[in-house]
Amino acid sequence: MPARLVVSSPRSLSRERGIAAETAAIVYGLTTEELELERDPALNHVNPIRRQVEALRLVEALAREYSGNHYHLHITGLDIYFDRFNFCFGLASSRSAVVSTYRLKHPNAEKFFERLRKEVAHEVGHMLGLKHCPSPRCVMFFSNSILDTDLKGMEPCPKCRALLNK
Ligand SMILES: [Zn+2]
Ligand SMILES: [Zn+2]
Repeated sequence: MPARLVVSSPRSLSRERGIAAETAAIVYGLTTEELELERDPALNHVNPIRRQVEALRLVEALAREYSGNHYHLHITGLDIYFDRFNFCFGLASSRSAVVSTYRLKHPNAEKFFERLRKEVAHEVGHMLGLKHCPSPRCVMFFSNSILDTDLKGMEPCPKCRALLNK
């Protein structure tokens, strides 16, 4: 398995990109690299009726464009959705993932960054092979709402952590 993660975002989200890269390094020990993109590739996958980004199509496009021996995480400011859900905070498929900051916003910047760290740790966990976890404190718990995100921790629980090392 590759141990390198490329984190991309448009320039407007460079701080968020830095936090995402730092989180992946701290939580999973990945080597990270940042990539600033002129134009957010999420713009290519907007569903004009919903005015939201089709997250799966975006993640698949990222996989095609940035295929290589590394994981790819993209940070977008646009609202994203998947399948039957009204929205999602992020989505991962194989070696590519996206996290949207759109629904993580909070008047307190620290709170916003904490949410971002959790969603990044969740999607990177998926790329590393972790599935959803029933423990509400585990970062791999599925967030149905932002409350779930606020209640969970930033780290995988011991059970999930053990699966990572297999
Ligand atoms: Zn998930
Ligand atoms: Zn867990």
